[in-house]
Amino acid sequence: MTNSIEFLNSVNQMFDKSAKLLSLPEDLATKIKLANSTYTVNFGVTLKNKIHTFTGFRCVHSEHNEPVKGGIRYSLGASQSEVEALAALMSYKCSLMDLPFGGSKGALIIDPNAWKQEDLERITRRFTFELAKRDLIHPSQNVPGPDMGTDENVMAWIADEYRRLHPTDIDSLACVTGKPISKGGVNGRTEATGRGVYYAVQEFLKYPKDCKKIGLSPHLEDKKIIIQGFGNVGYYAARFLSENGAKIITVIEKDGSVVNEKGINIESLKKYFDKKRTFIGFDGFTKTKNRFLTKKCDILIPAAVENVINKDNANNIHSKLIVEAGNGPVTADADDILQKRGIAVLPDFYANAGGVIVSYFEWVKNLSKMRYGLMQEREEAKRQSNLVSALEAMTDQDFPNDLKDEVIKGSTEIDLVRSGLEEKMSEGYSNINEKFHSNKKIKDLRTAGMVIAIKKIADAYSYLGI
Ligand code: NAD
Repeated sequence: MTNSIEFLNSVNQMFDKSAKLLSLPEDLATKIKLANSTYTVNFGVTLKNKIHTFTGFRCVHSEHNEPVKGGIRYSLGASQSEVEALAALMSYKCSLMDLPFGGSKGALIIDPNAWKQEDLERITRRFTFELAKRDLIHPSQNVPGPDMGTDENVMAWIADEYRRLHPTDIDSLACVTGKPISKGGVNGRTEATGRGVYYAVQEFLKYPKDCKKIGLSPHLEDKKIIIQGFGNVGYYAARFLSENGAKIITVIEKDGSVVNEKGINIESLKKYFDKKRTFIGFDGFTKTKNRFLTKKCDILIPAAVENVINKDNANNIHSKLIVEAGNGPVTADADDILQKRGIAVLPDFYANAGGVIVSYFEWVKNLSKMRYGLMQEREEAKRQSNLVSALEAMTDQDFPNDLKDEVIKGSTEIDLVRSGLEEKMSEGYSNINEKFHSNKKIKDLRTAGMVIAIKKIADAYSYLGI
């Protein structure tokens, strides 16, 4: 609980710093900063002949755009202040990335691994019922998605329960994102946050002067990376970064870490972790955990829980760049220390935006009732094929066979989702970078991103006439 209050305070401190730079009137700043509402529910589910009472939350932070958007977390450490901090980050994230959503977040106090799938399904359906009857799940008002401890199965149960409660709602599938493809999901959502983290790193590396300032060469090849958390976000980030030349030298998990200075084989580790749910016994395993956050590396990627880089260890961090793949890993105090020490931080509300970006694509797909690429895939392939034939006729040579299939191909859903995600991550970073260099009072990338995000929310409120 203390930790989650610290998390909320940190988010608010970072907000205050940026609101001051924008000279926002205090009353407007307070309106934006505070969550609009947080609903707490205690509900009972009869399991194993006994009523078990669960506590859940859904916080709506800002409704300047609707629906509001934000994941549902299943965790024993969930609390009202944690959910409020996460919901605020969703408002800033959607605003920064120009997504048509306000911010929200939900949580259930539960250890998802302690329950059988059928029990978890009953608990989830009951939680959905409690939220849906107050419109806290609704295609045009409040759209959850996955977060820590939840996955596509949980999202499929939520979607199905919502449909049962609203059988005539033609848009019911759009009530939640992160669903499996067969249940209305979009290709590429599962990997989206981790892929977005990889794009975020690539974007940072595109600015050689900024890289030089922190002592980083502007390419991914052989960069030494440490990742904390090997769940959905951590695994996919590790995978795409290592596939593109980086060396993941340490992965930190709950019960220990895996270390290999030559680069960990991420796919082997994933297979092992999926089977055993622990790193114990894997080559390079050691019981050391959080101490590795201060180990020397080029890029440190915390992808697990909040407050892990704080005033107690910020002075010992030996990384040049920190990429907040998880939400809130760096506290406000630590942020100041890191900034003074010349360590760059890619803030959570930019770095992990890939998930909500692709959730946005899924929501639009559900509302349009059509998969991406359906209308153009064949048409594009036909045009490309004609072009190849024309080139062959003009040059009297065969088009290289190894390239032909790749060229004569229309855009499929996964191609379009990846392209849209990369475009959004690139646009987001370019805006942050421009703001960062445009005002001497802005000393770090987080403040630059926050200034952009808050300004847009403030403008939306003034148009709303509040
Ligand atoms: P997850 O449940 O899939 O994985 C989290 C992993 O972190 C687990 O393997 C867990 O064992 C590990 N972990 C927990 N505490 C740890 C600790 N103290 N040290 C080391 N490892 C620890 O969760 P996820 O979906 O990967 O989410 C991770 C972070 O990313 C969260 O902060 C979440 O809010 C954020 N996030 C997730 C998404 C998404 O699409 N899933 C999107 C945006 C942000």
